[in-house]
Amino acid sequence: MELWVRSGGRCALCNTYLLEGPLSGRPLSLGEAAHIVGQSTDARSPRGGHALSPVLRGNVDNLILLCPRDHAEIDAQGALDVFTVERLRRVKQDHEDRIRHVTGLGQDRTTTVVRVLGSVHGQAVELSQDAAALAVTAVGRFPRFLNSYARHGIEVDLQRILGEFCDPSQDAQSAAASSRSYYEYAVRAIGDVLRHQLREGIERGVVQHVSVFGFARLPLLVYLGSVLDDTVPTDVYQRHRPEQSWTWPAETGSATAFTVCVDQDVPADDEAVVVMNVSGTIARHEVPAALTALRRYEISPVGRSTHPDILRQQASLQSLETTMRGFLASLETEAKTLRRLHVLPALPMSAAVALGRTHHPQVHPELVIYERLAGRYVATLEVGRAAP
Ligand SMILES: [Zn+2]
Repeated sequence: MELWVRSGGRCALCNTYLLEGPLSGRPLSLGEAAHIVGQSTDARSPRGGHALSPVLRGNVDNLILLCPRDHAEIDAQGALDVFTVERLRRVKQDHEDRIRHVTGLGQDRTTTVVRVLGSVHGQAVELSQDAAALAVTAVGRFPRFLNSYARHGIEVDLQRILGEFCDPSQDAQSAAASSRSYYEYAVRAIGDVLRHQLREGIERGVVQHVSVFGFARLPLLVYLGSVLDDTVPTDVYQRHRPEQSWTWPAETGSATAFTVCVDQDVPADDEAVVVMNVSGTIARHEVPAALTALRRYEISPVGRSTHPDILRQQASLQSLETTMRGFLASLETEAKTLRRLHVLPALPMSAAVALGRTHHPQVHPELVIYERLAGRYVATLEVGRAAP
């Protein structure tokens, strides 16, 4: 019993779970307590020649919990030189230490991983379950991949949707038109997974923290942020290009601050524009002609220039999220008549998700998200229209 608890019910060599038949799926007890120093000094008892009192040979410290296959192998004549007493003691110690560590990570440190895998300009990136697990472990969290979707965690795979890739020979208007059906499908896919799988986990009380990894076209990431539950604490992750990794790099120094200014001061009627110059800078002449007469805000970093890898710290993303939240809140008082906000985003992907999270359809204007297609900004997705 003590050996089973110390071992977490898993084989110390291959980590197989030993309380369930892998073929039948039935609850079965398949573990075996193998002797490290053999049961007796008899020559036929594997590693029996090692000095140890008969009493201690049967003690839990001399037993290692194994699956039947591994038990047979460590006791096989032809492998005794590989499975020495020293080696098996180290395997047992490492396994039992790890079980103790992992089970010691309380519920409050677990996080449910949500991954959205799309591509941008035909490019996809590595966003495996392992890459995500590594990133959350680096900040002291323990990744949970919900049981019923255990193999992948919560995953939305947009890479097989037809129309993901824009034809480079198209002009902006036809690229926007051909994006429409893609967006319809992708929005439904994201909404389905989040509203069903994630919501269900939250309602069952098993999801208490969420970690979001998204690689997709920006409007979809804003939408993703808007359908995430805001009652559960959520961390958004960013892919870092220099390291090709989702783990926040160990950056020192203070977080980047962001500011909002009024770039074109005309009264806000029912529409306005916000240009988000964060990962890059959108020049004034790139603002679509139909929007040039509108009141225009700009969000940009303080004391440094825009850059694709500007968000090198979680704190910088939080700082940008706070700025965006403050901006939307200021509109409630400053621009009461505002109904639609045209968003021109030059944003890192994590910031697009964060923008969606800050938006509340009941109090904020509807967001019209633009995207750079064939060299021009065109409206591709509307996010957060208040329910009538
Ligand atoms: Zn095993």
